[in-house]
Amino acid sequence: MIIAGYAINAQKGYLYIRNEYQKAIDCVRRAIEDCEQAGILGKNVLGNEFSFECEIICAAGSYVCGEEGALMESLEGRTGVPRIKPPLPTVKGIMEQPTIINNVETLANIPLILKDGSEEYAKIGIESCSGTKLISLAGAVKNKGLTEIPMGKITLRQLIYDIGGGIENDHGLKCIQTGGPSGGYITEENLDLTLDFDSLKQSGSLLGSGGIVVIDDNICVVDMAKYMIEFLADESCGTCTPCREGLRCILEILTKITNGKGSKEDLDLIKEIAFVASKASRCALGMTIGNPILTTLKYFKDEYEEHIEKLRCPANVCAMIKED
Ligand code: SF4
Repeated sequence: MIIAGYAINAQKGYLYIRNEYQKAIDCVRRAIEDCEQAGILGKNVLGNEFSFECEIICAAGSYVCGEEGALMESLEGRTGVPRIKPPLPTVKGIMEQPTIINNVETLANIPLILKDGSEEYAKIGIESCSGTKLISLAGAVKNKGLTEIPMGKITLRQLIYDIGGGIENDHGLKCIQTGGPSGGYITEENLDLTLDFDSLKQSGSLLGSGGIVVIDDNICVVDMAKYMIEFLADESCGTCTPCREGLRCILEILTKITNGKGSKEDLDLIKEIAFVASKASRCALGMTIGNPILTTLKYFKDEYEEHIEKLRCPANVCAMIKED
């Protein structure tokens, strides 16, 4: 961040870390102190005219604050609601000043590039996606946690079965969520996709921030999609009607389906709501509310139909209320 600040002649950098992540906050605080003691952070860095200050913002936990406009609002002490663009942050950002916003993961690559040169750095990963990627592997795998992989060199199969140690409790693999709650689901047939931005995008999925959740065959996909929609409905800031009301409507429909009261027309209605939200929402949360349902419908339409037509949950998860 100090190098980035020097490159654009900024005087201040903020590290926005969720308040719950105390360990991360402590680590960054120590790193700032170390840098100050080494004279590479603070007034007159290494005796030069350039001065740079770093401040940690212990942020309120909110999913939408990952969106840059909402992040800036929250950082300035207001409710984290995405801003209307333009202006872009590089024109008018924090405190109305030009601002660049990057993940710490991105900024952490700068010293490596400067130290070894861009050609050497580009040898890590593949041509279209160089460098490494942090992957947060969670869900039904034996080894959960954070791993760093060379971009495009590892397949989903290697991630789940070699690094993750396979599916826990001798269950089978049902699907994989990529790209976090707003991402989508892919299945076994995609296991040979390599982990890089392009490859997952081509499959209709997302690598996003690198969150991969493995789901075993014990899970009901309709119930799982409902859980995701419930999460997004909770996290929606409520500014745009298609996102706020769309999520509420989709949740109502999925609740109906998991209670055995759904109809085939409900699935078309969900698609219509998701389409409107994708076109008329202000930020990515609203634009992608259809992902959990559209991707599960793509691979598991029969399970939705079983809930609707046979009033049966194949995974025995949903308590179907049967009409006489
Ligand atoms: S899309 Fe949803 S989360 Fe984003 S600004 Fe609109 S209401 Fe808020």
